[in-house]
Amino acid sequence: MPGTPPTLTNESALARYPFLPQARSHMRKLFEDNAIDIDAIIEQGWLEEARSLGRLRLVESIVHKSEADPMGTVDLANEASRLFSMAAYQYAFLVVCASFDDRLVSRWAEGESSLADKNIGIDELYFETIVKTYISSLKASFENGQMIYSVPLSDFLELCPRISGSYWRLVNRPVNDGWVTLDPASGDTSAQRVARLVKERIREELIERSRESMVRMSEQLADRLGEEVTRISELFGSQIRSEVPIASATKEDWPPCFSNSIEELASGVNVNHVGRVFVAAMGRSMGLPLDMTCSFFEGAPDYDPQTTSYQVGHVYEREYTPHGCGALKAAARCPVGPGDDRLCDQEWLTHPLKYLRAKQRSRAKSETVL
Ligand code: SF4
Repeated sequence: MPGTPPTLTNESALARYPFLPQARSHMRKLFEDNAIDIDAIIEQGWLEEARSLGRLRLVESIVHKSEADPMGTVDLANEASRLFSMAAYQYAFLVVCASFDDRLVSRWAEGESSLADKNIGIDELYFETIVKTYISSLKASFENGQMIYSVPLSDFLELCPRISGSYWRLVNRPVNDGWVTLDPASGDTSAQRVARLVKERIREELIERSRESMVRMSEQLADRLGEEVTRISELFGSQIRSEVPIASATKEDWPPCFSNSIEELASGVNVNHVGRVFVAAMGRSMGLPLDMTCSFFEGAPDYDPQTTSYQVGHVYEREYTPHGCGALKAAARCPVGPGDDRLCDQEWLTHPLKYLRAKQRSRAKSETVL
């Protein structure tokens, strides 16, 4: 990210994108001028509207099923609405940090950055300023009646591995003098493609900021937000459970590496390439229908139904064998340590499928005895 972001002082834009680095000093001043501190945001009656908006923002980012912008009905031309909108963002941020739950933070950051992606791509006034806040530079040219944008190769190379789809592979993008052209594709304009890239930096920055804030958060403050945290954590938990549609009896047999990957995907964590291929290959080896295996990826930050079904389909067609324990450990996809799981501690346990079969055998034996 550029060390010094471009100047942005328009108050409506700062309220629309309160996560921007340029919004921080503005938010501080706005809160000072209106005697708003953390206590006020959490408790004062006149800020209840802001808390409700913050809740709505949080729920949308967790469920993120609708296309609706939770802030879409807020009139940002109005000074009071801008103030409430900033306070709502701050309230949601505090609740997420008070959960001390990395998965909830990832999910919230995914929801916020997706909303930003949608808005930035169609923002005719502030598109370039916002993009240049997150990407080192931007080049525009007018071709065939539309604006075509290019981004520096270094930014593209850093961000593209996190996005699925052949469009985002460098071999499929025109490169000229160190600039990568992001042509319009699949109904998206060039600006919307740039916004998709920017989304990755926004998400990363939100996660980093939340982690810093969690370290600084006092237990007292976390306690005061406890009720809200419980509500949102329950919603998050039930959302994940509904996104993992497997009978619990079968699920009990799953090796921890598989369960963990599914849970991380469902909660918006950006599972690495090895983890994703492993999930698809395990789904195939376990005889799960293709649709069900594809559904495991629905919560992934870069989820795209077509790309997912193409890639999972490829794993099924080519009959990929899931990675063994050694490869999973090397790729940081084995979540257990010595003593965490009796089966994983066994010397003969070298493959997650052996784990699965051992579990199925012992379940079958106990059912026979009964
Ligand atoms: S030891 Fe093997 S089976 Fe157990 S969690 Fe790690 S990778 Fe999976």
